[in-house]
Amino acid sequence: DILLSVQGLSASADGKPILRDISIDIPAGQTHVIMGPNGAGKSTFGHVVMGDPAYDVDEGSIVFAGNDIVDLSPDKRSRAGVFLSFQAPVEIPGVPVSSLLRAQTAGREGIEMKGKRFRRRIADLAEKLEMDPSYLERELGVGFSGGEKKKLEMLQLLLLEPRLAILDETDSGLDVDALGVVSRGIRAYRESCDGTLVIITHNTRILENLSIDCVHVIVDGRLVESGDASLVEEIDRAGFERFARHAEEAA
Ligand code: ADP
Ligand code: MG
Ligand code: MG
Repeated sequence: DILLSVQGLSASADGKPILRDISIDIPAGQTHVIMGPNGAGKSTFGHVVMGDPAYDVDEGSIVFAGNDIVDLSPDKRSRAGVFLSFQAPVEIPGVPVSSLLRAQTAGREGIEMKGKRFRRRIADLAEKLEMDPSYLERELGVGFSGGEKKKLEMLQLLLLEPRLAILDETDSGLDVDALGVVSRGIRAYRESCDGTLVIITHNTRILENLSIDCVHVIVDGRLVESGDASLVEEIDRAGFERFARHAEEAA
């Protein structure tokens, strides 16, 4: 039961090719990891699956839950159950975190809730993530640390319970607090809706204690290898050199 099927995907930005002929199938309920050196195209992959208009799909198909979504807007993809977390520096002074979360659930069947019930729901989620509830009333993005952005992403993830969650982790290190929020968030997401995960990362610490079904290595816009969790260990130890040679030969 494949939830996301990407076939022969090539994508570019401003006429510059970034992704080249990428094919990845992600079965429902699995956890896949995408790794690769800086600038390889990992974030671009996430953005293209989400439908970010900054990128053009030049070739290939993106099929989600049996439907080709290549021509759908990001909002339609989101409503269909695709979620992308990324460190967008949203800053909206005067608007609290809770209002953004409420706006994001508007018109969504089964998620939209009014007043008290909604406040209760997000308070429960904050507790699950072991967050201070005062965070929910913080002004959006203003002075947010990396960890505070993570908290927002994890609340969004648990509130929306998307069928497919693509988590694009920062290349820079997360502090212990943020790592805790991310691991609790991922665990809660997996437990609550048996979701499907794609984790894009450099930071292998996020992957500790996580059962990984498949690791994909992208170098220079190409998928150079897919394998089991032992790839994470190998990359930790030996880096991307072996994969980079592979990519050169393919070019
Ligand atoms: P990664 O996440 O693996 O570090 P990215 O997907 O962010 O890599 O970027 C891959 C390549 O594409 C880089 O060379 C980057 O500069 C380029 N790129 C990414 N997004 C854009 C864009 N919107 N416009 C132009 N070039 C981009
Ligand atoms: Mg990068
Ligand atoms: Mg990136």
